[in-house]
Amino acid sequence: MHIRNLIFAFFFLLCACASSQKLSISELEEKVNAAEAQRNVSARSSIHYYWQLADLYLDNNDYDNAYRVIISALRLDPWNYKYQYIAAEIEMLNGDHERANNRLNFINSDLKDLLNLPGYYLYLATFPNLNSDVVELIAAKVTEEFGIEVRVINIGARESEVNIRDRQLGNIMRLKQVRSQYDANALMNQISGRFRNMMNEPYSLGILGITAEDIYTDDYNFLFGLGQTRLGVMSYARFLLDKPSTEQFEKRAVMQAFSSAGIIIGIPRCTYPSCARAYPHSLEEHDRKDVMLCYECRQNLRQRYARLKAIIAKDSSNSSKPPSTDGLGKKVSNNREKSERKAGGQTGHKGHTLNVPK
Ligand SMILES: [Zn+2]
Repeated sequence: MHIRNLIFAFFFLLCACASSQKLSISELEEKVNAAEAQRNVSARSSIHYYWQLADLYLDNNDYDNAYRVIISALRLDPWNYKYQYIAAEIEMLNGDHERANNRLNFINSDLKDLLNLPGYYLYLATFPNLNSDVVELIAAKVTEEFGIEVRVINIGARESEVNIRDRQLGNIMRLKQVRSQYDANALMNQISGRFRNMMNEPYSLGILGITAEDIYTDDYNFLFGLGQTRLGVMSYARFLLDKPSTEQFEKRAVMQAFSSAGIIIGIPRCTYPSCARAYPHSLEEHDRKDVMLCYECRQNLRQRYARLKAIIAKDSSNSSKPPSTDGLGKKVSNNREKSERKAGGQTGHKGHTLNVPK
């Protein structure tokens, strides 16, 4: 597998131990103290302990301790809007209205500034036998959160059998629900082979393929998505294994689509745990997140969009670029008046045909 395709190889262990075991307040305090002793980025991987501890304190109406833990956690993960709101509520309770207002303004000013990239679009390419509700939801949510048009296209062919691998041969019997697996790189090649033109259209942001089949690469036994700029593939097979509710399943799939869409559009992976795009350490952690991009991802998208908008704005009509560099998406002005007539031959027109020489 090529290194550049590894840019986002998402995999995580479905670690039952981390999700089912309930820790006590003192055990969680210990975990949090250990994390506090670390530097920011490594402490972030322990952020779920902070939130669990804060929740326990909140359950006990111990707002002082809950607030202390939440504020420490928000230093590591400021884009967790849910806990920002809880912190503001506690500040209100304590009569600290100024601090609460500043906090709410800080969150709202970012959320109000919606992303928007008119003119560009992302293709969502569907393999057969997908859950159409999920595909529709992904298209709608990516449109809403990223401010871009999403065009759904059918791949029109099954995942190529050439790229299948037998679970028995893989000798991975732990998850027997998975019938078979497909090579993620091969699926990407299948998509780009079929839709190279669409990938390279001037205003196309790229193609995200989606499959219901489990995927793997030579380096990972399974993954949720694989991609690079302009092309990616995601699978929702693993999101169904623990028989989640429809809502949980859809949320997982949409968050994976956000991750993949970001990589395809050309922004880096995200390290803020509450971000929909962040790599989760367990499905429980994944489920606890809101289906929202964090401030960092939104800022990265704003910068990327600004560059793309500058490309649209700068064509031969308003710059020194030659017309030949306008690309296929250039606007050709049409001065003709619109006719009422149908296109093509008009009724009553006498036909002419080429006489075949005898
Ligand atoms: Zn993010």
